[in-house]
Amino acid sequence: MSAIVCSHVDKSYGATSVIRDLNLAIEDHEFVVFLGPSGCGKSTLLRMLAGLEDISGGEVSIGGKVVNDLDPGDRGIAMVFQNYALYPHMTIFDNIAFGLKRQKVPKAEIQQRVEAVSKTLGLDPYLGRKPAELSGGQQQRVAIARAMIKTPKVFLFDEPLSNLDAKLRNHMRVEIARLHQSLNTTTVYVTHDQLEAMTLADRIVLLRDGRIEQIGSPAEIYERP
Ligand code: ADP
Ligand code: ADP
Repeated sequence: MSAIVCSHVDKSYGATSVIRDLNLAIEDHEFVVFLGPSGCGKSTLLRMLAGLEDISGGEVSIGGKVVNDLDPGDRGIAMVFQNYALYPHMTIFDNIAFGLKRQKVPKAEIQQRVEAVSKTLGLDPYLGRKPAELSGGQQQRVAIARAMIKTPKVFLFDEPLSNLDAKLRNHMRVEIARLHQSLNTTTVYVTHDQLEAMTLADRIVLLRDGRIEQIGSPAEIYERP
């Protein structure tokens, strides 16, 4: 069974059609990149996978269940946003722990899990600070830690590196690839950056005007005559 299935998915805002009759199956443990120019519908489609959008037609299912029918806590999804979306008044520790606290996970376990993911991402020296006291790359790592700690089956990334400088971008790209391997998740990653798509993807979904223009491995997409 595929991890994620989009079946005849449509999305429009008013009279504007953004995703048109889109069909796609993403396999367990696959790293899929949605690539395409600004405005082609990448973010909208990703948000539909996360159950964050009303769907105008068709269906998105995750693990065999229609995503919009599941409670957010039961979807097994974690999403990392372009602007990090951290809570500015909370410490890094509390930002990372937020979801677990809400789920009433015992304090000792929260402490232990926050320390474990912080170590993995090199954040342990910063747990007592506020987001504004960290660099962009460190903040993005906090956003990833906050997603990772939920041990999701599906990891969704929406242009996670586009606010970073080139050097950090390269570094974080390698880290995201490594996390995907070690956590053994299914990952869907939105970008307009061809290099990111080519280096990260098992398969690239090339979107144009809300439709799939091409789909295949980086070699299949870029080595065509
Ligand atoms: P991408 O991520 O590829 O840049 P988006 O999914 O963000 O594209 O947007 C696709 C299209 O949908 C764009 O034309 C955008 O203007 C439109 N759109 C996105 N969100 C909304 C919204 N909330 N209301 C109206 N139009 C929207
Ligand atoms: P609460 O505020 O929910 O009672 P705790 O008593 O567990 O939480 O911790 C008090 C505060 O200390 C937390 O809100 C958190 O910001 C901070 N904290 C806990 N553990 C660490 C840690 N390992 N490193 C840095 N700060 C921590």
